[in-house]
Parts: sequence; C-alpha cells; structure tokens
Amino acid sequence: MDRFSRRQFLSSSSIAVAALGAGVAVPSVGWAEEKKGMRTLGRTGLEVTQISFGGLDIGTSALLQGAIDNGINLIHVGTGYVNGKAIRMYGEVMKERRKDVVLALKEDPINGIDEALKLLNTDHVDILMPGLHSVEEISNPELPGAFEKLKKEGKIRFTGFAVHKNIPEVLEKAIELGFYDVMMPSYHTGNRDQVDPLLAKAKKEHNMGFMAMKPLRGVKKEGKNSTPEEVKAIYADLLKNPQVDSLVIGMGSFNDMNTNIEACFQKYSQAMPESVKEMIRYAEAHECASCGTCSKVCPYGVAACDIMGMEYYVERGDPALAAAAYRKLSAAQQADSCRDCGECQAACPKHLDIPARIRQTHNTVATFA
Ligand code: SF4
Ligand code: SF4
Repeated sequence: MDRFSRRQFLSSSSIAVAALGAGVAVPSVGWAEEKKGMRTLGRTGLEVTQISFGGLDIGTSALLQGAIDNGINLIHVGTGYVNGKAIRMYGEVMKERRKDVVLALKEDPINGIDEALKLLNTDHVDILMPGLHSVEEISNPELPGAFEKLKKEGKIRFTGFAVHKNIPEVLEKAIELGFYDVMMPSYHTGNRDQVDPLLAKAKKEHNMGFMAMKPLRGVKKEGKNSTPEEVKAIYADLLKNPQVDSLVIGMGSFNDMNTNIEACFQKYSQAMPESVKEMIRYAEAHECASCGTCSKVCPYGVAACDIMGMEYYVERGDPALAAAAYRKLSAAQQADSCRDCGECQAACPKHLDIPARIRQTHNTVATFA
C-alpha cells in the first residue's frame, strides 16, 4: 500500500502549494532555489518545472492531479502509451487543468493530431514531439511543412522530437537543421558523457529546450532496490547540469510522486551517499548509451541497440512492455539470430557484452510470448 493516500499527501503538501500560489518562499526550497524548481525550456521561453510528469510509468488521474496540485507544470504523454489508456487519462484531467500545464505530446505531425487533441480535451498542445530515431527520420522533408501547418491552425505552439536510439547522430542532425525548439533524448548517468557536448552545442547555436527521458536508466529503481533519497540524489546529480531543463519521470504511485515533488522543490543538501556514487559508476561502465553502433555493425542485421534498450523495461520491472516491443522485431532482428561474431562488442564504446545481454533479454521476454 502507498505510504500516502492522495488525501494525506495533498494535506501534507498544502503548505508548499499555498506558498507557490502566493509567490513566497517554498519551505526547503530546491537546487534551483532562486527559481523554485523552475527552468526555462530553451527558446520556447516556457518556464517549466525541472521535474515533469510523463513517460510510460504513469499511474492514475489522481496522481496526475496530485502532481499538478503540487506545482508540477510540464506533462508529457504519447498517443500509444499504455495502449492508449494514458492519453485518455490525461484527457480526463485536462478537462479541468489544461490551463495549469505545459502539455507535450509524442505524435507524428504528418497525419495531423486531431484525434489526439480530441482525446486530450484540448484545442492545442504546447510542444509536439514525434519519435525520430534516425538521421533519415529526422531529415524527413515532409516534417517541417506538417509542423508549420499545425502551427498555423493553432494546434501546436512549438516543435520537438523524442529519440531513444542513434542518439548522438540524431542530435547532431537536429542541431544542423536548427528547426526544432525542444529535444527529448534518453538521458541518464550512463550516457550523459556522450550527450552533454551535444546539449551544449544545441544550447549555444539554437537555445534548444532539453527534456530528459529515462533519467533513472542504469540505476536501480525506487521501491525495488533504491531509496527515495538515492533517487533524489541521482536527479540532483543530473540537474547539476543547468542546461538540462526538465527530467521526464513516470509517476506510478503516490510514493513516486512524493519523491519527485520533493526532488523538484526541495533542496538536496546531503552529500551524495556512497551507494549512489556506486550506482553512477556502475551505470557509466555498464549501461547502454543508445548510440546505435552495435546495430549498424552487425553483419546479420540483429537489432542489438533496440534490444539493449528493452533491458531497461525489464530492469524496472515491466518485462511485458519489453516483450511487446520485442515482438515488433523481425525474426532476423531478434537475439537468437546472433552468431556471436563479436563485432558489436568490439565497436561498442563501452565494450559491453552485447551478445550475452541481448540473449538474456530474449530469454526473459520469451516467457511472455
Ligand atoms: S555478436 Fe551477434 S549481435 Fe553482435 S554483431 Fe555479431 S551477430 Fe550481430
Ligand atoms: S550496446 Fe554499446 S554500441 Fe550498442 S547502443 Fe549501447 S552503447 Fe552503443
């Protein structure tokens, strides 16, 4: 059972809410103390909370309401998340709360977004961010016109994209194009050394907004192997980079929400626990950086990068989600087509044991077939 019920939680946090509303100091204010947990989302000029509500691990409308009640103002959803249940839940909440949030939607602009807007009970989203996972996808010549049309129709305000594989080359291309207002890659302690230089370039050249997906990838998850203090310490470490505008975090329980709101608005004043340092060292050495190299070099067409990405779903306790993603791969792309040639491991910047790890994921998801 959750540590706090929604009612208990809202009662316990009402002081902070009142303080926010009155524009006075929030008790135990945050890392960005002077801005009360807010950062400017690049050239959009939107003031957003440095922790946002989104991703696949979403709970109930009460959780989304609770997060908004407690000051979280950036929310993100995709049309396909949780088989469409997520966008419907957001839509219920948006009936009353649309004006209180910056709403980011993961959806392809090319076929329009009318159906998504209807489900969300709104006439527009603030940021439209399709998943663009390769240089070819982000260079699609149809995209700029489709975005511009939606802007003219008043259905979107800003352009963005999400990316969770081939990350360095897709970010490079986005910077070269200069078209997108906001980028949202997977960003965590296991890949920030690759992403940070590109983030700095994107800020310098275009002042792009930066939303970080999957910030806990590579470290153990709260409720299973890590404590709320450890989770907050990891968020604090990622947010030490002032160019990271917001961490997009799933909130599947009131405990998650409590941790995340504290992380957003309260100062993380403790020295980093040794356990967290260990987690970060582990992620730096062992977590896949989603660079895409392994898939590119595989002579047999195994989708190694994709399968490495599915590890995260297994790790966070959602093997069914990994299985659903795995089933979308062709037989040739799946791990049992691997012939142990070793080329991926040699090319991987971390020299990860990719053949063993993709087989392990294969074996895990096979039980969900
Ligand atoms: S070891 Fe397997 S996955 Fe890696 S390159 Fe060779 S066949 Fe492809
Ligand atoms: S396993 Fe290695 S090569 Fe493959 S995507 Fe991850 S970091 Fe890149």
